[in-house]
Amino acid sequence: MSTHRIAVMPGDGIGREVIAESMKVLRAAEKASGGAFTLETTEFPWNGDFYVKTGRMMPEDGIETLRGYDAILFGAVGDARVPEHISVAQTILAMRRGLDQWCNLRPARLLKGAPCPLKDKQPGQIDFVVVRENTEGEYADIGGNVFAGTSNEVAVQSAVFTRRGCERIIRYAFELARKRKKEGVGKGELISVSKHNAQRHGQVFWNRVYEEIREEYPDIRSRFLYVDAACMDMVRKPETFDVLVASNLFGDILTDLAGVVVGGLGIAPSGNLNPDRNGPSMFEPVHGSAPDIAGKGIANPFAAIMAGGMMLDFLGATAAAQAITRAVESVLGDPNAPKTPDFGGKARTSEVGDEIAARVGATVAKGA
Ligand code: ATP
Repeated sequence: MSTHRIAVMPGDGIGREVIAESMKVLRAAEKASGGAFTLETTEFPWNGDFYVKTGRMMPEDGIETLRGYDAILFGAVGDARVPEHISVAQTILAMRRGLDQWCNLRPARLLKGAPCPLKDKQPGQIDFVVVRENTEGEYADIGGNVFAGTSNEVAVQSAVFTRRGCERIIRYAFELARKRKKEGVGKGELISVSKHNAQRHGQVFWNRVYEEIREEYPDIRSRFLYVDAACMDMVRKPETFDVLVASNLFGDILTDLAGVVVGGLGIAPSGNLNPDRNGPSMFEPVHGSAPDIAGKGIANPFAAIMAGGMMLDFLGATAAAQAITRAVESVLGDPNAPKTPDFGGKARTSEVGDEIAARVGATVAKGA
């Protein structure tokens, strides 16, 4: 039996509501696994309230505390009392950088029952993964302001592209394309997304590293797309995508678009992986705290539940992870199963969670 120590950070707004459902489903999977694994969880109340009380989103040694866990399940941060660049920088970005979660994995699969905004796209037709560089690039915290508050004010923001950072993320994406091909899920194609026609330093470097690494993968078809073309194709013909790799900012934009293409933010999960496994990885829904619907009990918990499934998969509880995926698919594809209003239903967040937990309990395989 393996014990996984999980740090749970629900955060703010609907983060709290959807993480409660994700935990409910994880507990159902744990129970149904017949003792094959246990989850030892600790909840951390690091959010807007914590900031108001202490002046920080997490304690000074927060990252060190999290380092002692096997994984982190995170909801969302966003509180009107906290400047957004502070709430995000002191939680999500601090974890990604501090725990070297250099790979942000965002699968986009069109499932039966998900509201696809594109016409004529069938369930199963869209199935791709965006691999986003997660610790440097345009999100590197380098820059400054001078002459603040005057008409001469200047702001400078630098992007950082290191050989180590580019190589490891591009290689990870090639390996993923190879794995998906082997498993019969993907067609063995990688698209490197860049903008090296306009950004002549960092992006040209990214592209050069991509050109070098693709030589190591003759079995994978690879090509590049400029980020604007990639956005257009994600709307026009997302069924042609398999694995895409992009820098931090481009990956962020592409993955929000990808989430919308396969049914909206309510269904898009994400993993912030430390593939070297020398620190915990963090799993979260792509959406934020959604203050407009927070507290109403109508947030869609699918994304957070699927993030929990990704976490189990990464921790090696593969059968339980697959059971969560199957339960999500069966609830989503069942016209009589409860759905939240964003998916055209009238159900509350907890009813969807209850239903998925019940179906996980019924299907999880022993020995996960
Ligand atoms: P934040 O500032 O924390 O990023 P936001 O409202 O700007 O919050 P999101 O939380 O990503 O950004 O949400 C954008 C919109 O999508 C919300 O207004 C909400 O209506 C909708 N939305 C997001 N997540 C969900 C969800 N899980 N269920 C239902 N609707 C959602």
